Amino acid sequence: MAAADILTELEHHPRPCDKEGLKRSIRDALIHQAGKDPLHATPRDWLEAVSYAVRERLIERRMFTQRLFNQEHAKRVYYLSMEYLIGRMLINSLMNLGFFDACREALSEMGVDLLEISELEPDAALGNGGLGRLAACILDSMASQCIPGYGYGIRYEYGMFQQQIQNGQQIEHPDNWLRYGNNWEFPRPEKIFPVRFYGRVVTHRDNGDVRHHWQDCEEVIAMAYDYPTPGYGNKNVNNLRLWAAKATRDFDLNYFNEGDYIGAIQQKAESETISMVLYPNDATAIGRELRLKQEYFFVSASIQDILSHHEEMGYRITELADKVAMQLNDTHPAIAVAELMRLLLDKYQLPWVSAWEITRAVFGYTNHTLMPEALETWPVALMERVLPRHMQIIYEINFHFLNEVRHTFPGDTEIVKRLSIIDEDHGRRVRMAHLAVVGSHHINGVAALHTQLLKDTLFHDFYRLWPERFISITNGITPRLWLNQANPALTSMISEHIGKEWVMDLTQLRQLEAFAEDPTCRQEFRTVKEANKRHLAELVLERTGIEIDPAAMFDVQIKRIHEYKRQLLNILHVIAFYNRIRHGEAPEQAQRVVLFAGKSAPAYVRAKQIIRLINDVADVINHDPVVEGRLKVVFYPNYDVSSAAVIIPAADLSEQISTAGMEASGTGNMKLALNGALTIGTLDGANVEIREAVGEENIFIFGLTTNEVAETKARGYRPREHYEQNAELKEVIDMIASGFFSPSEPGRYRDLVHDLLNNDAFLVLADFESYLHAQERVDALYRKPEEWTRRAMLNTARMGFFSIDRTVKQYADEIWGVTPECWI
Ligand SMILES: *Cc1c(COP(=O)(O)O)cnc(C)c1O
Repeated sequence: MAAADILTELEHHPRPCDKEGLKRSIRDALIHQAGKDPLHATPRDWLEAVSYAVRERLIERRMFTQRLFNQEHAKRVYYLSMEYLIGRMLINSLMNLGFFDACREALSEMGVDLLEISELEPDAALGNGGLGRLAACILDSMASQCIPGYGYGIRYEYGMFQQQIQNGQQIEHPDNWLRYGNNWEFPRPEKIFPVRFYGRVVTHRDNGDVRHHWQDCEEVIAMAYDYPTPGYGNKNVNNLRLWAAKATRDFDLNYFNEGDYIGAIQQKAESETISMVLYPNDATAIGRELRLKQEYFFVSASIQDILSHHEEMGYRITELADKVAMQLNDTHPAIAVAELMRLLLDKYQLPWVSAWEITRAVFGYTNHTLMPEALETWPVALMERVLPRHMQIIYEINFHFLNEVRHTFPGDTEIVKRLSIIDEDHGRRVRMAHLAVVGSHHINGVAALHTQLLKDTLFHDFYRLWPERFISITNGITPRLWLNQANPALTSMISEHIGKEWVMDLTQLRQLEAFAEDPTCRQEFRTVKEANKRHLAELVLERTGIEIDPAAMFDVQIKRIHEYKRQLLNILHVIAFYNRIRHGEAPEQAQRVVLFAGKSAPAYVRAKQIIRLINDVADVINHDPVVEGRLKVVFYPNYDVSSAAVIIPAADLSEQISTAGMEASGTGNMKLALNGALTIGTLDGANVEIREAVGEENIFIFGLTTNEVAETKARGYRPREHYEQNAELKEVIDMIASGFFSPSEPGRYRDLVHDLLNNDAFLVLADFESYLHAQERVDALYRKPEEWTRRAMLNTARMGFFSIDRTVKQYADEIWGVTPECWI
């Protein structure tokens, strides 16, 4: 049989996906793969066996899908992201492939509980927070919508650290997620590309053309690991390719010649550190050389791979932009602009003008933040040392670009300085966001407000130059994970009323609006929420030892710990609530559980203090008999995708309380509203659009607007005035300052309080009063369960816009120019 026929034959006899077929595969994998006698198999052995059975079916479908894309000569989009916050893969794969039920029954007949063993799978936590989770949702959507889309990233040996709380403080543990092996990945030892660093550039003339040779480099090998990503309700399976660093085979020559065997091995270990660990910093730039090397490492390997496929398909390099789109997820992969230019110039020997035209037609850039501490800049000296040829190219890009600027704004030297890719004022640095903007045909913000702010502030000068390049694409979330999988009870209820089309067309949920007016349906909805709350209560008890009452309002703030996200504002309200109980005020206040979850960057001292304060406050309140369980405070440890999937369906109130103008979009806000939590939030990020979607009577908005924040700061903000004018706030602050919550160390929060009273960069005190009033409105509504439920249901019904499928369609139409190709 010819090689080409083998797969065609397999297409007619694929691995069976019914219960009996799965049973056979699981049994075979248990014995032949895990090497276990079923009599002695542990739950982990069963997990390995099931994942192996799923893997076989995934890879078949991936081959068929890839064949289709090749046959159709489809344009492809390559999503370049340093982070993918995926979570567990077993249940997600089974549900997308459509054999969850068959598999559960197959296992059940062998005496194994699918959901139980699925809990043993470690999260793939190759990301920090929202940005990495967005990348994972986009992969799910591209596959589900049959888009020829490929993820590229890094196979970190250690993902996001695991958080433990000890004496109220965050302790980090390494996330050794590959310890038991990983059945979801396909190592590709033959898919290897060299990636070079350091060295020098030698120039010579070739028939009048200047040629550049980058030589005397250190070389690392990037090896591919493939993760098949199945679509929902179709047979397409896309691919996520993650790169691992390996030493080159000839790494040792010099050492060996000198007899330094150990030195040779040490050097090998050093090159492999590039993909060792994810930097655990959310929304802050890291200025470390290793980080720059990580960025270039995965970009270089990805682009080499993309170009090599382009050549294999027989396409000309000049038609690259007809066949390839690349999306930069933030500036982390922005060096791609210089790398593609380098390959087009030095390898393909294209003239500058054509190389630049192709490059700009290929890239799109998504901006995720305006915050100065998150904007990546690299010292010119570092870039020159690590990537000398790229530095030359960046200078040349800048030269041509600034000529264009001078032509558009003659005589304006200030705008030239502001727009330059090189920042000359802070010790000569490369501004990666400027490189990304200049090298892309479209630049998008991730929510309407955020895009407007980009145009008005960070990229204002760029916007004046090229207004047509700036667009807004509001983030979204995948309904497959965040409703269908995470909330089976609500899923059943919804689907009984309106069918299941909503999983692929979330706007269908609008049909639920009518059911919100029906008391019987409201009761069903409440029953679902109560069951989810009982489940969360069990887990809270297990993980924290704290007992919570499912009858209480579950008020949750779950996200990275960041000053701008203002967990501090939340805890100030908690203390005020506590004081009202202590003082016998407002005895009718509804019973509440305030739950926090989130990790702090290990070196972010203030964020770690905030975690400690939350835990200190929790300890006092949870043990004060006066409270009589009317208020409980929980810090749920190790927030990750899996714990999000348990907390979100159980939430009543969603805290989205960032300082206006600081949260680019948020996606946690969308997950919670979709699952029927009401939002208390500022007019920030996508909250603005959530308000429009759900209606302003169904959301609790408070606080300063973006403009008011700016005005307050411009006037000279004096936080102490709020403290002096608001007795309730004063009491709260004084308690923290006096050590009420840290009696063993009364001065523990002295710095924090001092900063709040004298600086308060995030306007916590300015928004306190308005926040408390909003919380009173929340409380009053919660005490009318029928009305609360009605509004919660309207939230679920009106969240259709926030499906990631709408987001991805916009990217496909407005930036990538790719169209679906469905296999069968
Ligand atoms: C959705 C999600 C985030 C982002 O949450 P925000 O509230 O938008 O910051 C972070 N971490 C995890 C695990 C998530 O699932």
